[in-house]
Amino acid sequence: MRYNEVSRHTGYLPGVFCAQGKEYSFIAQKKLWQRATSAGSCAAVLERTAAKIQNRRNYIMAKWVYLFSEGNANMRELLGGKGANLAEMTGLGLPVPQGFTITTEACTQYYEDGQTINDEIQAQINEYIGKMEEITGKKFGDSENPLLVSVRSGARASMPGMMDTILNLGLNETVVNVLAEKSGNPRWAWDCYRRFIQMFSDVVMEVGKKYFEELIDKMKLDRGVTQDVELSADDLKELANQFKAEYKGKIGKDFPDDPKEQLMEAIKAVFRSWDNPRANVYRRDNDIPYSWGTAVNVQSMAFGNMGDDCGTGVAFTRDPATGENGLFGEFLTNAQGEDVVAGVRTPMHISEMADKFPEAFQQFKEVCSILEKHYRDMQDMEFTVEHGKLYMLQTRNGKRTAQAALKIACDLVDEGMRTEEEAVAMIDPRNLDTLLHPQFDRASLVRATPAARALAASPGAACGQIVFSAEDAKSWHAKGKKVVLVRLETSPEDIEGMKAAQGILTVRGGMTSHAAVVARGMGTCCVSGCSEIAMDEENKKFTLAGKEYHEGDWLSIDGSTGNIYDGVIPTVDATIAGEFGRIMGWADKYRKLQVRTNADTPSDAKKARELGAEGIGLCRTEHMFFEGDRIDAFREMICADTTEEREAALEKLLPVQQSDFEKLYEAMEGNPVTIRFLDPPLHEFVPQTDEDIQKLADSQGKTVEQIHQIIDSLHEFNPMMGHRGVRLAVTYPEIAKMQTKAVIRAAINVKKAHPDWNICPEIMIPLIGDDKELKFAKKTVVETADAEIAAAGSDLKYLVGTMIEIPRAALTADAIAKDADFFCFGTNDLTQMTFGFSRDDAGKFLEAYYERKIFENDPFTKLDQNGVGKLMEMAINLGKPVNPNLHIGICGEHGGDPSSVEFCHKIGLDYVSCSPFRVPIARLAAAQAAIANK
Ligand code: PEP
Ligand code: MG
Repeated sequence: MRYNEVSRHTGYLPGVFCAQGKEYSFIAQKKLWQRATSAGSCAAVLERTAAKIQNRRNYIMAKWVYLFSEGNANMRELLGGKGANLAEMTGLGLPVPQGFTITTEACTQYYEDGQTINDEIQAQINEYIGKMEEITGKKFGDSENPLLVSVRSGARASMPGMMDTILNLGLNETVVNVLAEKSGNPRWAWDCYRRFIQMFSDVVMEVGKKYFEELIDKMKLDRGVTQDVELSADDLKELANQFKAEYKGKIGKDFPDDPKEQLMEAIKAVFRSWDNPRANVYRRDNDIPYSWGTAVNVQSMAFGNMGDDCGTGVAFTRDPATGENGLFGEFLTNAQGEDVVAGVRTPMHISEMADKFPEAFQQFKEVCSILEKHYRDMQDMEFTVEHGKLYMLQTRNGKRTAQAALKIACDLVDEGMRTEEEAVAMIDPRNLDTLLHPQFDRASLVRATPAARALAASPGAACGQIVFSAEDAKSWHAKGKKVVLVRLETSPEDIEGMKAAQGILTVRGGMTSHAAVVARGMGTCCVSGCSEIAMDEENKKFTLAGKEYHEGDWLSIDGSTGNIYDGVIPTVDATIAGEFGRIMGWADKYRKLQVRTNADTPSDAKKARELGAEGIGLCRTEHMFFEGDRIDAFREMICADTTEEREAALEKLLPVQQSDFEKLYEAMEGNPVTIRFLDPPLHEFVPQTDEDIQKLADSQGKTVEQIHQIIDSLHEFNPMMGHRGVRLAVTYPEIAKMQTKAVIRAAINVKKAHPDWNICPEIMIPLIGDDKELKFAKKTVVETADAEIAAAGSDLKYLVGTMIEIPRAALTADAIAKDADFFCFGTNDLTQMTFGFSRDDAGKFLEAYYERKIFENDPFTKLDQNGVGKLMEMAINLGKPVNPNLHIGICGEHGGDPSSVEFCHKIGLDYVSCSPFRVPIARLAAAQAAIANK
């Protein structure tokens, strides 16, 4: 008998054993294995098992379900974050209502089995219901002491609000009556039942919430009350019956009474919710693989809605918006968890609990301190108080704004809880983006008077035109408009619209409402809970501070202060200072990769430098020709008939380019500057309008007809694979000559002005597929450059390198490396040409690829490590032995994507280059890669 290595899922040992002449593979729980082997009985156990299953080749003794008391925080992969932390809290002796976790592997199995829970898993679930009944002393459907449970999702990485939850499961007509009688609190019992029917119908059977909400609203109207809590037991009973009738009307069957049936359906629904559209979008945005699956937690209910000595809350050990150290959160009396998150009622500040629930509050504060010290991070907790007694329902490392993340990480280092390296590793680089987003211009802000103030739910400033629905936010954004999404409250379906908006303003909801939590996660500015707004969503208008606002009106909101302003307030860019600067300093200390920027203009270069760029990795020279009257000279060059005509046009462009390059060198203060020679298809620059065509004809002394003929001759069927890149330098060497002169002359001038700077221009030839192409272009460059340097009597050094962006370049990198001082991976084109997907059109079908689970990510955003990455590795492995000094970087979009940066670190690149605002992200991601791969 032998077993293989411990699986990456903790606790499992895959192995093989022989019995009765046959070989069986198995997966045994590690504990079981150890127990069995130490007792010397493993072989015997397995022999017996083998005898029973002779006709089954692969017998898997998988454990699909764990009691909270069986797990711990290290089992997050298997139990999901929530399950692992419930287990950990149980182990710490904290007051956790007990239950069990169905593993993430059961979810994966559910999908493998064609979206069914197989017999083996069902049997284990039933077994664990029995165990739970024993532990709690309650029984499903019992007429004495019935067990009610919550069923919650819990993936490895937390995905707040993305998947489904069902509370109060186990109720039926009999049980509700038992509870009403035993508790002496029929209002509570019926409240639970109507909530359960509503949630089960919505989550499990997909009967929309709105039907039930309409019934509640009608009931409140009939009874002349405004709050749910004002409805009586009889009202709620009547509502429950109305709900059941609604269910039957929609589903065509009675509402299920059997708690086990309810549970199995609820578990399936949670598994299904792993694949719902909003979860898929969230995963894509947050780099969470589909293959992880979600666990399901079945937990005995603690009731916050049993009366005024009960309640429920959500709290953070530090402020998730600012990072300030201190308890932060909200509490609602006589309510269940969903009420806080849904923002149906506006909750009280957690500190007010101290008066209402002194003992529970004191205990809660102690728990907070234990948990924060234990996890060494800010905790986000859900809890319930039932008749004054505290129950912990969840803890996790809290989601936080980027600003808060930086402060918390620095504070934890100062408090001695974390090392610098750990602090660097704690911060999600993607969130830094939000800190680099604009803030309101101070001078304009001083002059502005807020129209209202609400909760500062997610920082940053936003200014845009008002829209009232997520769909409108999306479509206006697609048209290039800036919008502020104004809603009564948001729900998970709104995620894409929220992403498209500059900012989000909600009428209802607290700091932990959906809008607040999701906006913080996305780094979008959000102001929530502005109850002063009189909203009319249907007619797309609202009134605030005496003014009526309509769709398209301008509004400015400040997610850091909660202020709302009428009209436009200009915004300004942020800078790196304070804690941001401190973390960046640490990141720079630990990273190995250099971080450069892709910058085409001096102002981009300056910005990038401020954000820490250590050079320019890519200057796309063609982008320099769009401004002002430069395009005229460029068009003359394209539409030249003869070399002489072309050279005359190039002569006009030379000083323009030279002066731009000088400014780039100045902005980079002696750091390396890589200038890529002309790359795009020329037809992109030809004149389109009659006016421009006439202008060109006049300047060239040609007829409009002749210009039309030239334009036609430039047409290509596949411009991306057409006359671009090095092919231009091959057909028109005079272009490369002019660009070389501009680069070298600029460098000589700047070197003269700054003798202490290390000016060494890097000339990059794009789109090489064959070493002879590079040789040809390089000859032009070297002859021109050397002549310029000699003429100026300078000792300027320069490098000539190439982009690796055609698969053939990667495959023949050994030959190419002989002539290249550096390689820079152009992974935009390399991805395009490796997949054969047009980088301009792939968006049209990628959505279908996501839906059909062919792709989880856009390969133009996140590097395809298996394919494109393999080509990169191949190019390095072929190129380096030939030219050990070969300097290698990346300048495709992936250079600013954290997971791609990690890959670049692993394969040994020297630098990544990305757009200016992604420079800090790349710096941090590079440090994290170095720390993780130490
Ligand atoms: C690339 O192809 O990755 C690249 C950086 O060049 P461009 O995007 O300009 O084609
Ligand atoms: Mg390219």
